[in-house]
Amino acid sequence: MGAIKDTYDILKDLITMAKDADNQVLVDKACELQERLFDLREDNQRLKAKVAELENQIRQLKDDPASGLTPHDGYYTKQDDHRFFCALCLDNRKKKVTMIKDGKLLFCTECGNRIIMD
Ligand SMILES: [Zn+2]
Repeated sequence: MGAIKDTYDILKDLITMAKDADNQVLVDKACELQERLFDLREDNQRLKAKVAELENQIRQLKDDPASGLTPHDGYYTKQDDHRFFCALCLDNRKKKVTMIKDGKLLFCTECGNRIIMD
């Protein structure tokens, strides 16, 4: 934690110098600064943990192409999306393929999966 550690060391020196100079007002102010620095360090640690957690979630979403999709018999749909995705390609090859819709027929050009919709 480079910058925070450096700042802490500077403040420690400042407190020592203020004590040597018998300047209690400066000692108190420097101690206040030190407390604020500890608060910032805690915030920083919390934010770093949150970033790591979010990066992990992004990684999981990227790894799972079916994330956010609703499964149906032979295909997937996504909310607010008019496309149909082939379930065979997604389940077997982790590939998100948009199916062609022709009337009640859904057709996957990648694997030949055909679905007749009710
Ligand atoms: Zn397919």
